[in-house]
Amino acid sequence: MRFNYHTHTARCGHATGTDEEYVQCAIKAGYQILGFSDHAPYRNYSNRRCFMEWDQLDEYIGSIESLKEKYKDQIEIHVGLETEYYSYCHEEKVELKNKVEYLMLGQHFSDPMNTAIDYFKFNSEEEILLYGTSICEGLDTGLFDCLCHPDVIMSRQPEFTKACESIAHMIGKKCAEINIPVEMNVRGIQKGKRRPIEGRHCYYPSREFWEILAQYPIRVICGIDAHAPEDLLDLESVEDAYRELEGLDLSYITEPII
Ligand SMILES: [Zn+2]
Ligand SMILES: [Zn+2]
Repeated sequence: MRFNYHTHTARCGHATGTDEEYVQCAIKAGYQILGFSDHAPYRNYSNRRCFMEWDQLDEYIGSIESLKEKYKDQIEIHVGLETEYYSYCHEEKVELKNKVEYLMLGQHFSDPMNTAIDYFKFNSEEEILLYGTSICEGLDTGLFDCLCHPDVIMSRQPEFTKACESIAHMIGKKCAEINIPVEMNVRGIQKGKRRPIEGRHCYYPSREFWEILAQYPIRVICGIDAHAPEDLLDLESVEDAYRELEGLDLSYITEPII
């Protein structure tokens, strides 16, 4: 069965295409389930390049709901959101959770006030550890149905440091303990093909990071993290992502999670 719960829309400011084009590409690629999980807004904080505005939420949900109905004979559609977690906006996350079918934890920065400046770029080992701690704090709330790209910071880390190692253990242990699916994210492979980085062929999955995650009994789900409709057609990158983690003792999810 082919499913993908990680799909963005143009509302976040860095994705392209119409909502319907994502659905059409998913059908073409043979997906049976397509989940939309655009970057969720913050009530009192705006960043037009990172996530939608709070007042776009209802329109977003309405649009996906109407596609769900329109294409119900061809594909199962779900509406969710991807968002960060910080304890000071807990109430807001609860509110989001109540509006959609599922929430995915995608921790993109260690402090939301730094979004525009330090996207994944940490200046110290302490910041990386803080990042790992905030992920575990989010997972502990029980609000999330999946952890997205646990290794995304490796796209900007020149080295796999002690702190990277520590947070991989922290995350693996936590996800196993609460039995939350961990995403093997395909976007890092696609980015690597479009814009190779020196010395590496993909941004993530990071083999070093996953070697540690694999020491814990976690369940792994593949996520496309589509930011353009045609990303859903790129099944070759999906194969490449699996190949990247080949040989690791990982248990892949084959049944729908929503
Ligand atoms: Zn994005
Ligand atoms: Zn995403």
